Amino acid sequence: MRKGLLFVVSGPSGAGKGTICKKLIDKMDIELSVSMTTRKPRPGEVDTKNYYFVSEEAFVETIQVEGFLEYAKVYGNYYGTPKEIVLKKLEEGKDVVLEIDIQGALKIRESYPKGVFIFILPPSMSELRKRITGRGSESEDDINLRLGETLKEVSYIDKYDYCVVNGDINEAVNRVAAIVKAEHSRVSEDIYDLIEKYKEEI
Ligand code: 5GP
Repeated sequence: MRKGLLFVVSGPSGAGKGTICKKLIDKMDIELSVSMTTRKPRPGEVDTKNYYFVSEEAFVETIQVEGFLEYAKVYGNYYGTPKEIVLKKLEEGKDVVLEIDIQGALKIRESYPKGVFIFILPPSMSELRKRITGRGSESEDDINLRLGETLKEVSYIDKYDYCVVNGDINEAVNRVAAIVKAEHSRVSEDIYDLIEKYKEEI
């Protein structure tokens, strides 16, 4: 059976990758991986839906049993992608999307090079500041820290396969959806099975 494809959507904090991924799963047959984190839930966030919210001890235990496909410390909290769940879905032929930071994406590029790496960019730094401020959950210091990181992060763009500028959210989602479709038309090993079948049918 054909394996699912792994899409890694990352980019600077506030670029809109979370919103893009949520809209993408509403529109396409693709599953969003739920990460584990030591960050405290924000108002409205639900355990097991937005994240698996865990203690630092539980997170470290998962590292020790090699339970993560990747993990990283982002702005003082740990975040990790559960390995078994994601690999099982791919085995079952389901597409999976990871919405993770750039450190995590670079690790996956090493361990799962077949992944498709999509970088989401904000249209401008002033728009990025506006978006992070609008969330109301970050302090002024946190916002400045995140904006400072953005310039460093953008320098890794050449490690990605695609980039999408998120000026208009619907346009950005359509572009990511187009990437998903295009990747399903890529010439890959599966196509040779189909060609073999053609030969049998003659
Ligand atoms: P937030 O705390 O705003 O939900 O997420 C902070 C950052 O952590 C975002 O850039 C988000 O993409 C990233 N992140 C979320 N889950 C994971 C994960 O499993 N691994 C890594 N490396 N980053 C993650």
